[in-house]
Amino acid sequence: MTIQMMGRILAHMGNLRFAVNGPDALRLARERAPDLVLLDAEMPGMGGVEVFRAFKAEPALTDVPVIFVTSHSEAAFEVASFEMGAADFIAKPVSAPLVQARVKTQLRMKRMADTLRRIATVDSLTGIANRRQFDQALEREWLLARRAGEPIALLMIDVDHFKLYNDCYGHPIGDICLQQVARALAATGLRPADLLARYGGEEFVLLLPQTPRSGAEHVGRCVLDAVAALNIVHADSPTAPHVTVSIGIAWDDDVSARRLHATTASADGRNAAQRSANALVLAADKALYSAKRAGRAQVRVLGVE
Ligand code: GH3
Ligand code: MG
Ligand code: MG
Repeated sequence: MTIQMMGRILAHMGNLRFAVNGPDALRLARERAPDLVLLDAEMPGMGGVEVFRAFKAEPALTDVPVIFVTSHSEAAFEVASFEMGAADFIAKPVSAPLVQARVKTQLRMKRMADTLRRIATVDSLTGIANRRQFDQALEREWLLARRAGEPIALLMIDVDHFKLYNDCYGHPIGDICLQQVARALAATGLRPADLLARYGGEEFVLLLPQTPRSGAEHVGRCVLDAVAALNIVHADSPTAPHVTVSIGIAWDDDVSARRLHATTASADGRNAAQRSANALVLAADKALYSAKRAGRAQVRVLGVE
């Protein structure tokens, strides 16, 4: 009865999905993360609080706001809900205008939070991951590689003679060029775990977990070809008549052998992990420099010592 009533009250406010128990609710949410959950606190089987905790425990669902709907009238339950991280609280019997007002408020806040999360992690010019997201991913993937004893590789990709390109065609056309290059890089058949990011200016990075040297070199050649295939005219480039990139690849096939001086749970351990992950960036940078010196539009590889 509550579900039918809520269905009528919220019919015009968005797409609705209903579940009559906790496990079904989780299954629906995993299929497609909702913007908001209204959760009955008193359910048979898996109780409301337990379902709430299960939502918060899943990384993909943890940011979904949850409003408790309950016939508990004590303030203590309301306070406990907020302390657990509930977004709001609706008492039964429900009033239609109140439910609509609270849902509307939560949806507005969710949209704002989503926008902020996106701005914080996405590069506004190219739409790919930004430096902040890359830094976080690098540390996480490096620790995962260390634990699993798997290889990891990093490509540092720099547009050749890009200052000359800007000087020749102007900054706005330079921006369009960077967007095209980013799109071409994103289209080079990346795997789900791979991360492409704008490292800064005209430099991009491609992080390849579980990838040995040969695989990274293959991706490097694909990137060279993909950018050349864009055929963006660069009349002033001493390297080629079109825009090219140089690529430095660093690979580490024995991350598990890298010694950390503290456990990764501690702040010291985190710093040690960051420093070790940065060794991958430094090596890629060094390889890139050597690709530039060797004549640009090519790939150079360096192992991490
Ligand atoms: P190299 O082949 O040695 O890499 O030469 P380069 O000219 O590409 O390298 P340099 O580091 O001297 O110049 C990079 C240029 O990239 C300078 C800067 O104006 C341009 N740049 C950086 N960020 C942007 C951007 O967001 N948009 C545009 N249009 N240009 C940018
Ligand atoms: Mg550069
Ligand atoms: Mg450059």
